[in-house]
Amino acid sequence: MEQTSEGAAVALITGSGRGIGLACARALAEAGFDVALNCSGVGSLERTRVEADRIRQDFGVQTAVVAADVADMTAAKELVEGTVEALGRLDVLVNNAGITRDGLIARMSEEDFDDVININLKGTFNCCKAAAKVMMKQRCGRIINMSSIVGLYGNAGQTNYAASKAGVVGITKSLAKELARRHITVNAIAPGYIATDMTGALSEEQRTAISERVGLGRLGEAQDVAAVVAFLASPAAAYITGQVIAVDGGLSL
Ligand code: NAP
Repeated sequence: MEQTSEGAAVALITGSGRGIGLACARALAEAGFDVALNCSGVGSLERTRVEADRIRQDFGVQTAVVAADVADMTAAKELVEGTVEALGRLDVLVNNAGITRDGLIARMSEEDFDDVININLKGTFNCCKAAAKVMMKQRCGRIINMSSIVGLYGNAGQTNYAASKAGVVGITKSLAKELARRHITVNAIAPGYIATDMTGALSEEQRTAISERVGLGRLGEAQDVAAVVAFLASPAAAYITGQVIAVDGGLSL
């Protein structure tokens, strides 16, 4: 990424102490961005700081670590403001933080529904709102939202998660229309099954069954998703907005 007049471009990745978010932070740092990492709270702060140190050593970029629950609007605002304070500006926001609370609808509690909507969907809204304010002043920016193929096609046992990820697509397309005149692009990625803690509970049998349904014959790696994030954040993607890019090895074909 090119330097701005104020120094290196800056990317904030929510939920980036592990999994896909961490892979995104590393890919963006490799591309030359200073990166702000975020975790959900104090419990994961130390682990996230260790990852930030590693990124600094590996890629020679500046890093910041901010613990914040993205579901909390005030905390999300402070997360964006803290990033600008620590690293000077905000060029790329990756809304990656997300959870699952799976269950068939008969057994899904109201709390399971609300938690998933609050973190996955409202968290995306909260961070978009705070980041858009900064990016509109700059008259440039990139927002990349993590949806899921489950948000496009549904999945039994995931009504809450599917609703949240379909909502993320709605936010992406609406905001792309709203912010295009300010030279801010907004896109979403819809990963299939990616090997992280989120899919860690799958049994060997379930993994084999999924791999058989995936055209490319394997679960994805976090880096498969991060590479697309790095592309969407790059100058090469300047004319792409409002799109949802599936990274699913052909699962949805
Ligand atoms: P993961 O390994 O479970 O990591 C989830 C991340 O989200 C963690 O860094 C976690 O932070 C953070 N997080 C959770 N709640 C948060 C909150 N309230 N505020 C801030 N951060 C919070 O998940 P993953 O597989 O990497 O998934 C990343 C994203 O990709 C999610 O949006 C997920 O829905 C999406 N996705 C994943 C798959 C897949 O197969 N893995 C497929 C499609 C889409 P802590 O470390 O602090 O807990």
